[in-house]
Amino acid sequence: MRKWLLVFGLACLVAAQETVDESAIAKIRSEEMEHSQILHTLHMLTDRYGPRLTGSPNYESAAKWAVSQLTEWGFKNAHLEPWDFGHPGWMNERAAGYMVAPVRENLKFEVLGWTPSTRGTVTGPAIEVIVPQGPFPTPLPPTDAAAAGGRGGRGAPQRLPPTKEEMIQWVQDTKDKVRWKIVLVGKAAVVPVNFNPPQLRRDDAAVKQSYDPDNPNAGRGGRGGGTPPAEPGRLTAAQVTEMVDAMLLENGALLRINDAGMGHGLIRAFQNRTYDSAKVVPTVVLRNEDYGRIERLLQDGEDVRLEFNIVNRDYPEGKTAYNVVAEIPGTDKADEIVMLGGHLDSWHAATGATDNAIGSSMMMEAARLIQALKLKPRRTIRVGLWAGEEEGLLGSKAYVEQHFGTFENPKPEWATLDCYFNIDSGTGRVRGANIFGPPEAAAVLRPVLALFEDFGVAGANSTSSRATGGTDSTSFNAAGLPGIGLAQDPIEYQSFTWHTNLDTYERIVPDDAMKAASTIAAAVWHVANREQMIPRFGKEQMPPPAKAPAR
Ligand SMILES: [Zn+2]
Repeated sequence: MRKWLLVFGLACLVAAQETVDESAIAKIRSEEMEHSQILHTLHMLTDRYGPRLTGSPNYESAAKWAVSQLTEWGFKNAHLEPWDFGHPGWMNERAAGYMVAPVRENLKFEVLGWTPSTRGTVTGPAIEVIVPQGPFPTPLPPTDAAAAGGRGGRGAPQRLPPTKEEMIQWVQDTKDKVRWKIVLVGKAAVVPVNFNPPQLRRDDAAVKQSYDPDNPNAGRGGRGGGTPPAEPGRLTAAQVTEMVDAMLLENGALLRINDAGMGHGLIRAFQNRTYDSAKVVPTVVLRNEDYGRIERLLQDGEDVRLEFNIVNRDYPEGKTAYNVVAEIPGTDKADEIVMLGGHLDSWHAATGATDNAIGSSMMMEAARLIQALKLKPRRTIRVGLWAGEEEGLLGSKAYVEQHFGTFENPKPEWATLDCYFNIDSGTGRVRGANIFGPPEAAAVLRPVLALFEDFGVAGANSTSSRATGGTDSTSFNAAGLPGIGLAQDPIEYQSFTWHTNLDTYERIVPDDAMKAASTIAAAVWHVANREQMIPRFGKEQMPPPAKAPAR
């Protein structure tokens, strides 16, 4: 960029003047196509170290492996940065479950995180208890989350939770029925056959339109949002489950079973939200097909008997969790930092390949491309891999707090972070970028992304939302820093792999992952070398912090 243009500082001129280092970018592309390491990185993070639940020994091993791999590639200052998770680590070691009467069958399930072991093998009659529910919310919430580019299609609208009085009465009526029982909590979900399977790729025309700088509606579809606020006078879903758990524990239930509620044997197993395994009975999430079968047999009046043997372990040292950080030092602007990263932790039902071993692999790979080509960036390029994303963006929030502070209460480093690129939507190739900042910020990214039109990359837009939610880039946005969320083709993310027992190495599309890594490397290289840092909101334009961060 020439100096005289800065005098005018007009966004259109700056955008028009953005020069891109096409020869370095051509080298980045061929290095990735010829010497990609991405599948090896993925293999180590999934097959060797997965699942990577925050605070678990597996997570720590994966993080230490990443540090040594980055060091081996020639990165500087690769290390673990501790932060206080505040809960023990937890891992499941073995789990077997069977129906033993009236027919014999092995059950397909996952263990809920931070729940206790069974006392050896436990066998008991199954019963089903139905927690009271409130009415449907008015108006009904929109269900088409996918259309908004968000995550987590919520399916059919859910009824509101009960009131506290209704729950107290229900506990009174139910508590004497659960001793020595294996308790199915809730009615089996009805999961109809889907006659309209979701698209694997985003529609080209729609993607182009959503990143068109002249489209007044462009820029929708950033991550964020969260659960609707609790209704006054009604419990939250978490409070309801806490009351059920307390009742089961106090009254001697053997085990709690939740319905996975998804088709095709899919199971998502999250955590006991207290993170205290002493507060709950052993708990599993059973595939909907087994849950429904047991329910139907119980409705026939059959004496259904189940047997479980579960071994879990708590790890007190997991209270301290670790982010992974490594750098390619800059040259004349080494004090300014361009960051790229994603979360390294996962849920535990599978090896967390699409969420988010592949994202971590893409970011490690993007930085490796620059390092391997011996390109010398002007600014320092820093890779950050986070723990605790799945429990509420905890690792990236801790990092932002420790290093940057906020716009309102900044640390010295706040002014030196140029931007942070984040990826966390599965295996799909990159289709666009969404940066927190003024429209001029997106204009910086557009010319470099335009070189990847053949990979399906459509462009960039900007957001002014400081709400946290969805993924780690929003931890930066919340602090008023230029977080960049990369949008991807969905492939099988929402439909099959996101947080499920099918999230494994096999579900990765290598070509898409390699294209994503090249695109990101080029964008990082571009930002790290331009004369100015990316334009950001000044005092006048900075939106106020979001009120109630929700996930
Ligand atoms: Zn994720």
